Amino acid sequence: MGLHDQYGLTQVINARGPFTPLGVSRSDERVTAAVAAALSGFFVMEELQDLASRTVARATGAQAATVVHCTSSAITLSVAAAMTGTAPERIAALPDTRGMPTRVVLPAGHTVDYGHPLVQDVRLAGATPVVSGTEDECTVADLERDLAHPDTACLVLVSSRLTRGAPVPLADAVAAAHRRGVPVVVDGAAQDLRIDELLATGADLVLVSGQKYLGSPTAGLVLGRAEAVRAVRAQEKGIGRAMKASKEAVIGVVEALRLRAELDRVAWRRAQTDKVARFAARVSALPGVAGTVVDDPTGLPFPRANVVVDPAVAGRDAAALAAALRAGSPQIWVITQHQDRGELLLELVPLTDEEVAEILRALAALLPGTPQPA
Ligand SMILES: *Cc1c(COP(=O)(O)O)cnc(C)c1O
Repeated sequence: MGLHDQYGLTQVINARGPFTPLGVSRSDERVTAAVAAALSGFFVMEELQDLASRTVARATGAQAATVVHCTSSAITLSVAAAMTGTAPERIAALPDTRGMPTRVVLPAGHTVDYGHPLVQDVRLAGATPVVSGTEDECTVADLERDLAHPDTACLVLVSSRLTRGAPVPLADAVAAAHRRGVPVVVDGAAQDLRIDELLATGADLVLVSGQKYLGSPTAGLVLGRAEAVRAVRAQEKGIGRAMKASKEAVIGVVEALRLRAELDRVAWRRAQTDKVARFAARVSALPGVAGTVVDDPTGLPFPRANVVVDPAVAGRDAAALAAALRAGSPQIWVITQHQDRGELLLELVPLTDEEVAEILRALAALLPGTPQPA
């Protein structure tokens, strides 16, 4: 019997992407086996962190890495590291920041809310967020102006489909910060498939979640310059205690990275594109909806299905259709970011063929002209 039956839990089909309130992702059985084995063993945690650092370095070309509880904590600890370096008395003093640089500059459109405001991760370290530019645009000149202040600890940039306004050219922003001697942290929580590109911006630290596309247990990978990573690791003796990675998370990350290294990315991408194209075609055969294949706006190597709802034919608008899908059994969750313009996005990456078929059945049952079950 599965856990859902055993404990009476709601069955969910997650077409919403790596969404934290739904348990984020599925792990491969090789990862679950490694995690299960880790749970019953003792380890020298320093050694596990060294193993993770070497494994990430081999996989990405980064100088070093460490694993913390999640990307949210990785943001807090990276900001803390920018304020304290490896000075033990500073690390012990946080979140009291007396005598430390405390300004953390972010483009206005990068103050994303991924379930809570990202600037709260910054404030949790004791730092003060300084929002640069406007929601519509943050230019490199805007950043230069805000970075010029001597009390600046770091620049935080975000690579995510949640950012708003004109894209900030990341490499140019990094260069501007480095001209001022300011280190740069890039939050790429769901961008583990684009680590190379994020490192190529020249950022000192790149942060990604283990539990999103990488499919490890909950974990935050902090990778980049060895000195910067050392300062993050040093927070273990400070506020990082509350944000530590478990042994099973570190082992899970290592195994997930090994699995990723074996992935045939070209074949994987083709399979994802075919899956979405097939789904979109079958959606378009239903009354009142049209399916198209859309690329990820940040450049992730897979498309999503966009379902355009015509309320006049469908009998309800996109928001009502999404609500009806969510009210079914199993619950079906889709991306509702653009429902106001009549569009629902579906991410199919982790879904089985049976789950994709179930989504099509549920849509057909909600649209007119389909016999309703008694
Ligand atoms: C998911 C996400 C986070 C938080 O990641 P966790 O590992 O869940 O803490 C941070 N930033 C962005 C842009 C995200 O999408």
